[in-house]
Amino acid sequence: MSNRTYLTTPIYYASGAPHIGHAYTTILADALARFSRQRGDDVLFLTGTDEHGQKIQEEAERRGMQPIELCDAMADRFRAAWEQLEIGFDRFIRTTEAEHRGVVEAFVQRLYDRGHIYEGSYAGWYCVHEERYWTQKDLGEGQTCPDCGRPVQEIEEKNWFFRMGAFQEALVAHIEAHPDWIRPEVRRNEVLGFLQQPLGDLSISRPRSRLHWGIPLPFDPDHVTYVWVDALINYLTASGAIDPALGAEAPGFDDPSASWWPADLHIIGKDILTTHAVYWPTLLMGAGLPLPRRILAHGWWVVGETKMSKSLGNVIDPLELRETFGTDAVRWYLLREMPTGSDASYTPERFLVRYDELAKVWGNLAQRAISMIVRYREGTVPDGDAGGLDPEIALTLDAVEAALAADRLHEALAAAMDLARTANGYVETREPWAQAKDPTRAGDLDDTLATLARLLGVLSALFEPVCPERSAELARRLGLPAVPTIEAARMDAPTGRTVEKGDPLFPRVEL
Ligand SMILES: [Zn+2]
Repeated sequence: MSNRTYLTTPIYYASGAPHIGHAYTTILADALARFSRQRGDDVLFLTGTDEHGQKIQEEAERRGMQPIELCDAMADRFRAAWEQLEIGFDRFIRTTEAEHRGVVEAFVQRLYDRGHIYEGSYAGWYCVHEERYWTQKDLGEGQTCPDCGRPVQEIEEKNWFFRMGAFQEALVAHIEAHPDWIRPEVRRNEVLGFLQQPLGDLSISRPRSRLHWGIPLPFDPDHVTYVWVDALINYLTASGAIDPALGAEAPGFDDPSASWWPADLHIIGKDILTTHAVYWPTLLMGAGLPLPRRILAHGWWVVGETKMSKSLGNVIDPLELRETFGTDAVRWYLLREMPTGSDASYTPERFLVRYDELAKVWGNLAQRAISMIVRYREGTVPDGDAGGLDPEIALTLDAVEAALAADRLHEALAAAMDLARTANGYVETREPWAQAKDPTRAGDLDDTLATLARLLGVLSALFEPVCPERSAELARRLGLPAVPTIEAARMDAPTGRTVEKGDPLFPRVEL
């Protein structure tokens, strides 16, 4: 029975177009999903769009559209961007789907039935843009929202509240008992710090008179579900763990070979840590459901010291870079350059350094090794000992596994590139051009070429999660039917296979 791995990106808010932040999260998730598939796991990789709430309602009004028309257009835009960036998601969820609505209703009804929801009233300040309440002391200068700087409104309204505070102790205990539950550690400490203050209750509704674009509460149809609560439940909907018709766990919920819940990994940006590491687990505790196994919060792309943002006009568009350098190069840059979990600074110089690595280390190795098999052995991998680099391969695979287990993808990629470097050194040491001139060394040359053929297969497997397109091309040139799994590649017997020369995997780019 294969292991099941369920990993998620956040669902992206459908009021704006995809940008580098969305792209980074999604490429990171895609690479981790591909590594899991290579390991033989059964994978559910979820992404999608978050489609309810005030911002969507207002943006649709501004454009003279129905909210659902705006959401349809934005969902298509995200899907198209992900296709261009080679994202192999298994499920694209939209929170306007009927199934999701059913699961949200069942979820909040269960909280209500279990006594974790009460009616209260709220008087204070409200930011329409974030659909968030603020107290007077939160406000910035001139009565503005501390998060987005927009003017806030003073309101008084009836609201439904979730007794989030009742789960504070249980949440702290969970985080303390599971040191890797939130990664990296700096984010775990941030959440524990936040939980040193008393945890308030969470307003989970908005009056329908003000906001109609949402999922009505089953026990009070004059209120719609707060968009964050609605959005977080998407992870549960997509898992199929809750049957909306039953309003309860689907059959097989407790069977790990049949159920996708709990999720193995929620991949998020550090700006949405509180919702994922505080709201979501307490809501699940309230509903009596298991918590996700791990949360990985990554950093931001910055330019100099500043976060990229549209209003600052310093946004790098990964889809534009892709037109010049290819999708694989963009994916490589983003995943290799940013230490997983930290911030990273985008610079065109660093992009070129990372591109050069692909072209001059991995690409060059593939080019010269395949050319030599063509030149010296008429394109057929000779009957030699393919194990000349097996110890180096074994060390690399250990390093890759250790890095992945620690959610440090950039280190796994560095190890893969180091193996290509090592192999280039092997070529220099073995001097196959000298072996080819000396008929008494034909056996040595066979060993060199067979070793390189196996090694290139291993590299196509190791690079596939990040560079799926070029890895598939390399596997094809090696005469392999598809990119092999890492395990198959290290045991591969390449003798007799026909290889094919081609253009450089990563051509020189004219700027
Ligand atoms: Zn705001």
